Amino acid sequence: MEPRPRHIIIIGGGVIGCTTAYYLTRHPSFNPLIHHITLLEATSIAAAASGKAGGLLGLWAYPECIVPLSYRLHSELAAEHGGAERWGYRRLDCGQISAVVRKADLDSTSTPRKAKSATPTKQDNNGVLPVAQKESNGHNGQEEQHDGQEWQKLVKQDKKATALLQKSKLPPGLDWINGNLVQEYAEMGQPGFTETAQVHPFQFTQAMAALARDAGTDIRIGAKVTRIGLNQAETAVTSISYLDRASNETQTVLGVTDVVVAAGPWTGRVLPRTRVEGLRAHSVVFSAHVSPYAVFTNISLPSDWVPAHRAARGQRRRHRGNVDPEIYARPGGEVYACGEPDRAMPLPDTADAVRTDEAQCDDMVSYIATVSPVLAAAPVAAKQACYLPQHEGGPLVGATSVAGLWVASGHTCWGIQNGPGTGKLVSEFIFDGAACSADVSELDPRKFGV
Ligand SMILES: Cc1cc2nc3c(=O)[nH]c(=O)nc-3n(C[C@H](O)[C@H](O)[C@H](O)COP(=O)(O)OP(=O)(O)OC[C@H]3O[C@@H](n4cnc5c(N)ncnc54)[C@H](O)[C@@H]3O)c2cc1C
Repeated sequence: MEPRPRHIIIIGGGVIGCTTAYYLTRHPSFNPLIHHITLLEATSIAAAASGKAGGLLGLWAYPECIVPLSYRLHSELAAEHGGAERWGYRRLDCGQISAVVRKADLDSTSTPRKAKSATPTKQDNNGVLPVAQKESNGHNGQEEQHDGQEWQKLVKQDKKATALLQKSKLPPGLDWINGNLVQEYAEMGQPGFTETAQVHPFQFTQAMAALARDAGTDIRIGAKVTRIGLNQAETAVTSISYLDRASNETQTVLGVTDVVVAAGPWTGRVLPRTRVEGLRAHSVVFSAHVSPYAVFTNISLPSDWVPAHRAARGQRRRHRGNVDPEIYARPGGEVYACGEPDRAMPLPDTADAVRTDEAQCDDMVSYIATVSPVLAAAPVAAKQACYLPQHEGGPLVGATSVAGLWVASGHTCWGIQNGPGTGKLVSEFIFDGAACSADVSELDPRKFGV
C-alpha cells in the first residue's frame, strides 16, 4: 500500500512532545516529502516541568511496561548524540539516608551561606525566581502560609522500588552528607536491575527539539492551541487552531491528519476528557561540585527548631514531623533538590505564569543544610516551581476514540525517564498502527474513556 501523506501536529514542547517529534523523524517510514510534522508550544521549549525536573532515570521507576525501553533508549540517545557532554547523561549511585538531627548538631555544624549566588540560572524565567539579583534567602513577598503540616512525599519511589533498597554502609564517596547524623543508608545498587542514571532535563529536552527540527520538524513557539477541529461526524481530526501569542492572532491549520496531545499538566485543558491535571512542586539548584550521588532523605529534626528565614519573621516551622527532600548531584557543578507537592496554587494558563513560593524553597534549603555542611555553604542558583502532569491510573499513551487523535501525557514523577520510550511508541502507533517496542496496552487512553 502506498504511504499516505500526513500532517502530524504535536501539542506541547516538553520532554514528551520533543521526544515524540524526534522519534517520528527517525521512524523508518518517515518521508519528509509526504510527512509534515508541526510542534506547537505555548511558551518555549522545556518551559514547564521538563525544564525544572530532577532528571533522574531509574530501572526501578514506574510504570514497568515502559521503563526498561525508555531507560535503554536514554543510553542509546546519549551514545549517538554525545549526551554526556550535551545534556549531562551519566550513571550515578542512588541511595536513601535516614538521619537524626539534634539541637547540638545544629549549633555545632551551622555554616553561614554565601550571601549571593555565584551564577544566575541559565534557564528561562518561567516560575524561576531571579535569586542572582537578591539575597539567596530573601523573600519575594508572595509567601503562602501552611504551618505545622506533615511533609508530603513526591512518590518517586513506589512500594516496589522501596522494597528494592538494600541496607548498606554510607559510602565513603558520599562525603557531602554529614555521616555522623546518618542512622541508616540503603542503596539502589544492582547493575541491570536497580541501576540509576540522570540527564539535565532542560538540556535534554532542548536537544531533542533541536534534533527534531534539524530533521524537518516545524517548531512554533508562543503557539497556544485553542481548538482541535474534527470532521462533521466527530470521528476524525481535521484541523487545529492556535493563538499566536506574539501577534495575538488566531491561526488555523487545515488538512491535519494526526494530533498528539502532549501538553503535560495542561492536557486536561486541551482535551478535558483525559482528566490530566497539574500538581505544583518546588525545587532549588545549588552551585556546588560534589560526588555523583542521588540521595533520597528522611530527616528527623528537633521539634522546636525553626529555620532562620521563618524565625526572622516570627513564624513556626512549616512541617511537624520528618522531612524528605530529594537531592541529586549533577555534572557541571550543580546540585538539584526537590521538595513536596502542594495544592495551594491551581495550574495557571501558561508555563510563564507559574508562581514560586520562595518560602517553600527556603524551607528545603534549610532542611538540607542540617545534613549537608557542603550544601549549607553553597550558593543557591535557582528557586523554582512547576507542575507534575497527574492522571489517576498512570500515564496515557496511545490512541483515542477519535481517529488521528493521540494522547501522550500524565507521566507524573517520571516523565523525563519515560520520555524517549513514550516518543518511540507514539511514532510506532502513528506509522505502524501499533506499538512494537513494548506492550503498553495498560496505558491505552480508550480504557480511561478518552
Ligand atoms: C519537582 C519535580 C521533579 C521531577 N523530577 C523528575 C525526575 O527526576 N525524573 C523524571 O523522570 N521526571 C521527573 N519529574 C517529572 C517530569 O518533570 C514530568 O513528568 C515531565 O516533565 C512531563 O513532561 P511533559 O512534556 O508531559 O509536560 P511539560 O514539561 O509540562 O510540557 C508540556 C508543554 O506543553 C505546553 N502546552 C500546554 N498547553 C498548551 C497548549 N494549549 N498549546 C501548546 N502548548 C501547550 C506547555 O507550555 C509545556 O511546555 C519531576 C517533576 C517535578 C515537578
